[in-house]
Amino acid sequence: MTSYLIRNARLLGGEAQDILIAGGLFQRIGAGLDATADVEIDASGLVALPGLVDLHTHLREPGREDAETVLTGTQAAAMGGYTAVHAMANTFPVADTAGVVEQVWRLGKESGYCDVQPVGAVTVGLEGKKLAELGAMHESAAGVRVFSDDGKCVDDAVIMRRALEYVKAFDGVVAQHAQEPRLTEGAQMNEGRVSGELGLGGWPAVAEEAIIARDVLLAAHVGSRLHVCHVSTAGSVELIRWAKGKGWNVTAEVTPHHLLLTDELVRSYDPAYKVNPPLRTAEDVQALRKALADGTIDAVATDHAPHPAEDKDCEWAVAAMGMVGLETALSVVQQAMVDTGLLNWEGVADRMSHRPARIGRLTGQGRPVSVGEPANLVLFDPAYRGTVNPESFATRSRNTPYKGLDLPGRVHATFLRGRATVLAGELVEPGEPA
Ligand SMILES: [Zn+2]
Repeated sequence: MTSYLIRNARLLGGEAQDILIAGGLFQRIGAGLDATADVEIDASGLVALPGLVDLHTHLREPGREDAETVLTGTQAAAMGGYTAVHAMANTFPVADTAGVVEQVWRLGKESGYCDVQPVGAVTVGLEGKKLAELGAMHESAAGVRVFSDDGKCVDDAVIMRRALEYVKAFDGVVAQHAQEPRLTEGAQMNEGRVSGELGLGGWPAVAEEAIIARDVLLAAHVGSRLHVCHVSTAGSVELIRWAKGKGWNVTAEVTPHHLLLTDELVRSYDPAYKVNPPLRTAEDVQALRKALADGTIDAVATDHAPHPAEDKDCEWAVAAMGMVGLETALSVVQQAMVDTGLLNWEGVADRMSHRPARIGRLTGQGRPVSVGEPANLVLFDPAYRGTVNPESFATRSRNTPYKGLDLPGRVHATFLRGRATVLAGELVEPGEPA
């Protein structure tokens, strides 16, 4: 296995350090190390962070390989600095059995670009009627601990209560896509001033907040773990802050796009901005940034949702919801959180690696960058300035809302257990098993 000596990396944005990686582990860390390795990397000016962990990725395989495969999705993840992703269950077939989650898990092992932890569906076929085989998925080789009907809300309170009770037995968590279905029928964008002016069906904040309010109460009642997916409103932040204040076991994530973009963009009618939950107001964006900074929101999760051109290059009303995000997440977080002074790089490591790994109960990911730990690492160049060009993406899809936008920073290198998956901003062929 190739050994690496990384020179002068700013570890967590601090003082320059040398990092020696060999045998899959961080062997030595210190200033001016007297050491040699097969490959030496000049990391002057680069920030070293633990490998990023995504709680919310749509890899689309099985069933929609025209949008993404486990291979292309994990390549995109590596290019974005990720060493682990949670693959959402809304595939075809749905990941609601031990067989399907094991298939996704195995495809992840074969890809070699990052760890793939399958998420199991809460209900059979995401239909919200009958609990899926949660126990069998947990006991499978995939060892599922995170369950979600993401894309759909588990709106039946009794089913949600049973799911929370069930996962408690093995320290699992239910990740809820909070969307009251009746309040969002025909919804096309955030309900507010802009939707009124454009005459598009509104997705009101209360449809998210009502489900979160119910679910934190249910989680408290059952004494189980709840995770709230893609929080998008200021009111949701208040509810989560309140639930955490009670000492309840509630965690939450926010997407990069909800930290940067607003519903004003919908005026363009460009389906690149169509997403669920929808882009909200500038006030919501500010509340989300503040909540991520103070830790009320635990993690940044991409909700990477690839769609082929034919599902996005069409009229707003019929376009699919979702945007790709793995390859731009760290740049967006730099712009929204770091360059604004809200979060330092240590904070970014916490919200994009340590905490998401802890929520997913991943062992061997989200660990500190210290001697003896598995060498999961990203080297990031915050001084880089460039324009987002979707044609250069590793993901199979091109539906980014950042096309043509100048975003700061770029991933220079990613290491998965000591093996380089990205070097000098380019994917590395996996030569040896990770
Ligand atoms: Zn969702």
